[in-house]
Amino acid sequence: AAGDMGSPLKHFTNAKKKINVLFSDIQSYIEDFGEFIDDIGNSDENLILEEELEDDVRAALEKINGIKDMLCRNHMKVVFFGRTSNGKSSVINSMLWDRILPTGIGHTTNCFLSVAGCSDEAGSSSDSDGGAYLLCNGSEKRSIKSVTQLSHALSQESMSCDSLIQVFWPKSKCALLKDDVVLVDSPGIDVTLDLDRWIDNYCLDADVFILVANAESTLMQAEKKFFHRVNEKLSKPNIFILNNRWDASASEPELMEQVRQQHLERGISFLADELKVISKSQAKDRVFFVSAKETLQSRMHKTQGKPDAPLGMADGYQGRLIEFARFEREFEECISRSATRTKFEYHTQRASKIIDQLHVKAEWLFSKATDLMNECHDRRAFLLQRLEYIDNQMKIVTQRSRESILSLASEAERQVRLAMSDEIRRL
Ligand code: GDP
Repeated sequence: AAGDMGSPLKHFTNAKKKINVLFSDIQSYIEDFGEFIDDIGNSDENLILEEELEDDVRAALEKINGIKDMLCRNHMKVVFFGRTSNGKSSVINSMLWDRILPTGIGHTTNCFLSVAGCSDEAGSSSDSDGGAYLLCNGSEKRSIKSVTQLSHALSQESMSCDSLIQVFWPKSKCALLKDDVVLVDSPGIDVTLDLDRWIDNYCLDADVFILVANAESTLMQAEKKFFHRVNEKLSKPNIFILNNRWDASASEPELMEQVRQQHLERGISFLADELKVISKSQAKDRVFFVSAKETLQSRMHKTQGKPDAPLGMADGYQGRLIEFARFEREFEECISRSATRTKFEYHTQRASKIIDQLHVKAEWLFSKATDLMNECHDRRAFLLQRLEYIDNQMKIVTQRSRESILSLASEAERQVRLAMSDEIRRL
């Protein structure tokens, strides 16, 4: 199953964890720098700081925190596209191993619908289905207790075709959701043709696009047009083509191989020659022949603990199940690689710019402090020199004064003696 230890999706989730640790480190370094500057500001050192320094550090910290928040919210996003009833909802359900989105006529997805993971405690209820909830155009949370209730809630919504219903489903229930994949179902191409608004609103941050085509017919012009527009707005989008309802061809085995070859060639030519998003040799790993209906049936059968195949499967279903799993493997590899590169590269570049700016500030502070130290040093040397001079002077003065006192004293003694000898003589 997707999401096991070997899943390529782990590249993304591991990178996200690592980068999160890295940003926490950067955050604490900047905090340290800020504290250091505060300390200097509060001390009576005569280090004059530039006015903006504190503000710069604060701003850098805010930016880093902002990026960190964004990184935490980062996910891998896949958008499904195709005509109504080609089986987009069924493909999503198969990938989630559960009947989460309503399928079939009467449940046409007529607006954008995203499925993302949430923690089990997120909802207000604490029963076994607890956690699941719904947001319509960002309105308040509505908890969903069952899949049937979700179908009902969705059919009640009268949403315009470019609005968004967000379904949050407990991560513990689906491996893809646990690994931060968000799946977006679009209204059928036949519902509206306001492609540009769609792309601008929901597709610019998509990592992978999946065209769910009907294996019983050729690619429609409208389906192709959408990808031409996507290709103009995004550089080399990752596109997969699922020829769904492949089980229907099982009834005509003599034609099957011929039809498959034809669809494969057209799919490859669309991706490689027309859109030029991938080379011809790589494009063959982007076109698959599946049956979402069979895959979902078989997977739900398995999760219910039933070992044998569900009844009524068309001939060759095992091959189609394997093909679906092969598609998922390629898809996981592709989305993980693309998201790791695009989602983290930009943010790390921004962070590195912020750090560079701070580095310049730190260097300025360092050279300022060195200047101050040198200044102190020079002043001390000057004072010492003066002290030494004064000391010498003192010595000289003392010496001189001692000498003069001595000579005065001996002079006085001489005088006294002279006077005394005069006196003696007179006597
Ligand atoms: P959407 O409108 O593109 O989301 O299509 P749905 O997923 O709602 O599917 C429309 C109908 O086609 C439903 O009744 C599905 O059960 C059926 N369907 C979906 N995938 C397959 C498939 O691979 N084979 C067959 N035979 N039916 C399918």
